[in-house]
Amino acid sequence: MPALAKPLPEYAGLKPWKLPEGILYGPFPTRRKGRALGVNLLPPGDKACTFNCVYCQCGWTPVEVFRSGEWKAKCPSLEDVRRGIEEGFAGLLAEGNAPDAIVVSGNGEPTLYPQFEEAVDLVLAGRDQWFPKTRTMVLTAGTELGRADIRRACDRLDERCVKLDAGDAKTLKRIDIPLVPFTLDGLVKNCAKLRDVTIQSFFTQGAVDNTTEAAIVAWLDRLDEIQPVEVQVYSLDRVPPAKGLKKVARAELEAIAARAAQRLVVPAQVF
Ligand code: SF4
Repeated sequence: MPALAKPLPEYAGLKPWKLPEGILYGPFPTRRKGRALGVNLLPPGDKACTFNCVYCQCGWTPVEVFRSGEWKAKCPSLEDVRRGIEEGFAGLLAEGNAPDAIVVSGNGEPTLYPQFEEAVDLVLAGRDQWFPKTRTMVLTAGTELGRADIRRACDRLDERCVKLDAGDAKTLKRIDIPLVPFTLDGLVKNCAKLRDVTIQSFFTQGAVDNTTEAAIVAWLDRLDEIQPVEVQVYSLDRVPPAKGLKKVARAELEAIAARAAQRLVVPAQVF
């Protein structure tokens, strides 16, 4: 199983991350959702994403492999997904290890899974059968939200967490490095078509800094356009692939979240 390189001294104290194997991973403790069970629809041990974020816990996106589309053949089949969910959920229930949340995320951008809508239905059927009180959610970069089938699938889950790391194209390009055509205007338009949206925003300083006043003002303006139901901000928690990134202090994150809460009148939290 691939792992990230040994942490540099400036990242000492951050947790290492290994790419999950198989369909399910966890449950693992989270600050906001309790014990979360991850669902990975992408190839086990490989990353596939439309972004190449400098801070990604899965490491750099293998750009050539991603663009070649070869990774698609390594994705689990729907039958694999069904079996993984059935066996995994039944096993967790038998162990008394029920998750507090089921998160469709994994090794990259989950909506890239070729039969995403059908896979979401399998997740929901498993949830209904084994953990009927557990909330489901998806974490997405939002690049595929122009497709109606992807929006339909996301809307069936209880929560949709969409990434917004910058409100201006230049900063976004530096921090998220999109590998597919992507515009902030398009993201705003597509978010408006979803049932409701939670925005997750990562902040960093050092080699890439999206906490300057200009960057924060642009980010707030985009939030205002999107009108999320909640905003979640965070900083480095795991060893990033890019060198020279610095974790943003908790107090500064709190101040950023407070500005979002005041501007949008919705909950905004640091996690
Ligand atoms: S969108 Fe998520 S999975 Fe993709 S590169 Fe960024 S942090 Fe990693």
